Order: sequence, then structure tokens, then C-alpha cells
Amino acid sequence: MSLYEIIKVPNPFLKIKAKPVIDINNNILTILNDMLETMYNANGIGLAATQIAIDKRLIVMDCGKSDFEESDVTEEEYDEKVRNNKIEPNPIKMINPEIISLGKDLQEREEGCLSIPGYNANVKRPSSLTVKYTNEDKKVITLDAKGLLATCIQHEIDHLNGILFIDHISKLKREIILKKAIKEYSKQ
Ligand code: ZN
Repeated sequence: MSLYEIIKVPNPFLKIKAKPVIDINNNILTILNDMLETMYNANGIGLAATQIAIDKRLIVMDCGKSDFEESDVTEEEYDEKVRNNKIEPNPIKMINPEIISLGKDLQEREEGCLSIPGYNANVKRPSSLTVKYTNEDKKVITLDAKGLLATCIQHEIDHLNGILFIDHISKLKREIILKKAIKEYSKQ
């Protein structure tokens, strides 16, 4: 296992559209494992390959496995349980993920990003979706997701298309965050 360096704004690599993975070989499986390790090390719940400057359609996530319906707890209670590791780990690795349908209902959730550490904003996105991806065993999986996982999947697939969560907020808020973040990171 080895850790990757996570790139931050304004690195232009965050704007690229990543290329599909053609051959799921050992190199790809190693990258996925190292991405997960890098994500856990940074206390994140999702990471896309473009965030470690790899031009491939790969994402990893862990929004936890819960034995309760997310609709039975408030969003704050749920996020608190995730933060406090009250929820079993549930690592998911996706190769060439593709959203095949989005639910009609929207949900607003506070999002952050390992490429813009220290800055959060509320983003409104569809609350449910169906995603198709290839897993490590080269099987094509269709997954229905809602709640935090649905947000996370959309956030990570956005990364593969060069889109950041701040691209979903107002231009004014985006520019404030970018200006502060870039100034802060340039001092590090
Ligand atoms: Zn992100």
C-alpha cells in the first residue's frame, strides 16, 4: 500500500475529463487499493483518480454500512454517526462509473472536498440515483443509491468530468471560496 498526494485547487488537472479504463489489470487494482488508503488517511469519504492526477475513470468511496434506514434518522444524526465511525466500513471501488438515472427529488447537503480542504458549502442534488459500474472482478454492477451515498457518487463522478462541488454553487460563493483557498494553500 502506498499513499498518493492529493492535488488541490487551482491545479488544472482537476478540470480534465478522465479517460475510460479499457483493461482492468493489476495496475488498476493497485491504484484502487492505494486510492482507498489515501482517502482513509485523509479522513475523506470519497476520492476520484483525477484528484491524485491519474487520468482514469476510477472512484472510491466509503459512506459506511448502516443497519437502519437513513430516512429514520435526521441528516445531522446520520452524518454524525458517519463521522464518529458508528457505522461499519463499506468500501466501494468503481471502474468506469456511469449514472443511468437520477431521482426527481432534490436534497441539500453540506459538501467538502479533499481537493479544497477546509471549505464546505451546501449543494442541492438529486437524492437518489442508479449507477452502473465495473467492479474489481470485472463484473458490471447496477446499484441504487440514496442519501449520503447518492451525494457522494455524484460528487465523485463529477470529478471524472472536471467538475467540483463549488461549480454547483453561486459564482459569488465559488469565487470567495477559491480566492481564500488558493491563498491559504499557496502559503503551505
Ligand atoms: Zn471532491
